[in-house]
Amino acid sequence: MALINSQFLKVSQDAVEQEIAKRVNVFSVLNPKVELIRLDSGDVTLPLTPSAIEAMLSSVHEMGRDTTFRGRGPVRGYPFLIDAIVKGDFRSRGIKMQPEEVFVSEGTKQDVASIGDILCKDNRIGVLDPIFQTYIESNVVGYRAGILEKDKHWSNIVYLTATPDKGFTPDLPTERPDVIFLSYPNDPTGVALSKAELTRWVEYAIENKVLVLFDATYEAFIADPDVPHSIYEIKNARKVAIEFRSFSKSAGFTGLHCGYTVIPREVKGYSLYSGRSIFLNDLWQRRQTIKNNAPSYIIQRAAEALYTEQGKKEVRQSVDYYMTNAAMLRSALDAAELKYSGGVNAPYIWVQSPWGSSWELFERLFSRCRILSSPGERFGPSGEGYVRLSAFANQNQVMLACSRLADFRM
Ligand SMILES: *Cc1c(COP(=O)(O)O)cnc(C)c1O
Repeated sequence: MALINSQFLKVSQDAVEQEIAKRVNVFSVLNPKVELIRLDSGDVTLPLTPSAIEAMLSSVHEMGRDTTFRGRGPVRGYPFLIDAIVKGDFRSRGIKMQPEEVFVSEGTKQDVASIGDILCKDNRIGVLDPIFQTYIESNVVGYRAGILEKDKHWSNIVYLTATPDKGFTPDLPTERPDVIFLSYPNDPTGVALSKAELTRWVEYAIENKVLVLFDATYEAFIADPDVPHSIYEIKNARKVAIEFRSFSKSAGFTGLHCGYTVIPREVKGYSLYSGRSIFLNDLWQRRQTIKNNAPSYIIQRAAEALYTEQGKKEVRQSVDYYMTNAAMLRSALDAAELKYSGGVNAPYIWVQSPWGSSWELFERLFSRCRILSSPGERFGPSGEGYVRLSAFANQNQVMLACSRLADFRM
């Protein structure tokens, strides 16, 4: 008799999804001619860049010739891509990084969800709230979250609550977690940390022997020169931080799947029994060898092409397109006298409900402006009272959404 991991039964978010689907269905039946504008998505809408397409086409042909065919690639990724990453994302910013510190993967979601494989179940996890739910759910299924309490908080998770009075940047924890997930620029609040703010977290982590897991998926969207693109821009972060990066949002790779994880040589964990320190880079290498393959050669060539001059220019154009959407939405929200954060260093805008309830704001945007938003409940207990608007949308649709927002107060 096979017993299941029943933790998987505890993480269903179906209620919120079903409620949205129901409302959308009812609306489309009653208003068959009205177009609903979807600003609820965390997925990109622009096609892949010409550089990425060219690189894939030529590598497909290589795979079809006996002289250039390639079978199984290195577990950590091909050196050509790792070298492009080290030069393009780190050395270009004056950050020291060695190729053996980079692990190419199929993206941030799986790495963030799997990093727990190399960490003991007894660790206490600190997580931003609201947040991308993979951080919480992967720890629930990994038996690290404790029990779900009435207020929808997991008993063994330290919630780092982001509230508007502090600009959605939480205070340092009063209860010390062993591991902290940070994600900046943030999904869903759209907020980024300044160099001074991120330095505070790194110093706290060093003083308290906390491991920082830093999700920098939205790094390409940063506009403010005072916002670090990598946690390794902060002094001594190499001792305590793992960084996750993805080509999903910056280059539209959500359908291709490619990203990477950086584990500097210095980052250590400790053995539960002996207290002996172990390098996490070695442990992750073992884990990857047992469980993982890097993305296909074709996709790694596509990722490499993003680092050429032409590739960088094209990625910049996509990012600018989305951030123009974000700027238009911000002006329309200002005109509608709605309070929000984000939309400057991230493609998300976190809008506060004037009535205190996410669903009430969701419903008003939906029925009056025919705009679909993402209710805050999708992102954890502190999401109540907000909706997330996404700039990942067609620009004409965003313009239409902005004109419809003029009806919000009527
Ligand atoms: C979209 C998103 C991801 C997903 O990254 P993939 O590389 O596509 O797996 C990771 N983290 C955050 C915060 C996201 O919003």
